[in-house]
Amino acid sequence: MSTKDVKTMRIAPKVWRNGEFIDWGNARVHVMTHAIHYGSSVFEGIRAYNTERGTAIFRLTEHIQRLLNSAKVYRMDITYNREELCQAAVELVRGGGMEECYLRPIIFRGLNEEKPAFGVYPLHNPIDCYIAAWDWGKYLGEEAIESGVDVCVSSWTRTPANSLPAVAKAGANYMNSQLIKMEAVLGGFVEGIALDDRGYVSEGSGENIFLVNNGKLITPPLGASILPGITRDSVIAIARELGIEIVETSIQRAALYLADELFFTGTAAEITPIRSVDRITVGAGKRGEITKQLQDVFFDVIYGRRPAPNNAPWLTYVNDAEEKKTATASAKE
Ligand code: PMP
Repeated sequence: MSTKDVKTMRIAPKVWRNGEFIDWGNARVHVMTHAIHYGSSVFEGIRAYNTERGTAIFRLTEHIQRLLNSAKVYRMDITYNREELCQAAVELVRGGGMEECYLRPIIFRGLNEEKPAFGVYPLHNPIDCYIAAWDWGKYLGEEAIESGVDVCVSSWTRTPANSLPAVAKAGANYMNSQLIKMEAVLGGFVEGIALDDRGYVSEGSGENIFLVNNGKLITPPLGASILPGITRDSVIAIARELGIEIVETSIQRAALYLADELFFTGTAAEITPIRSVDRITVGAGKRGEITKQLQDVFFDVIYGRRPAPNNAPWLTYVNDAEEKKTATASAKE
């Protein structure tokens, strides 16, 4: 199996669906699928990197665990356990011959065509589970990692966690994200930062946010309606290892303007510096020293050039299982 081009993007030719691999072109749903009407989906975004030891998926277990947590919150019963879903992701990347890619596992309420249920009440609808993969470059632009992005504070409030739980990465949350992102892009910015319902800094439409002030790293707490980002967690672990103090606290809007450095974290955005907010220059208006230091370690870790903090198993090498199989086979010969 090889990768193919679908228009300009390299996409894995197969999609994993409910335990089997199907062709990309057959991964379709009916228009009366519950998730399309009522937002009943939970999903993940995961990256695989081309390391010196071959392709490795970054923090796969943690992402799949967050997916299962999201599903649990919405009472979606999944037939597959964490290991099976991790295995499916590994096989998808390996089978597609993807060197680097973005993985999108998604679980949603589907449609039973024999016994359709069209109302809001979701529990009569089947649960469908898919994983697709494609090659996705730098989310906020190729230049962004070095030169930073211009962002605005959104006029939209981040959905409060007692309306839509922030711990769950649900499709419905992304209607709020789309309002934030559209307003930002149409206003000439790359991204928008939302405040929470108390007026404190929450997060970007698809990223967590960090400030650097006097050498300290400051980030909103989980209580600020933020997704518990896996990149956020990685950056905190790296900062600890580097001896940088981390403070999780409520952040006022104006503190964004006054920060020495500011950056986003996310699977898609990785660590992206922010050079201005609402057209006010942040710090020196370019990537700051601590941001660069964190990026350097982060990229070394994701490319397997340096162990993760505490030697944590953050990389799943997709060819390891294959190598083990071959090793066993040759041992038997
Ligand atoms: N917040 C939101 C709203 C997101 O969509 C994402 C991307 N998943 C993040 C934060 C960052 O999370 P992670 O580092 O796990 O990708």
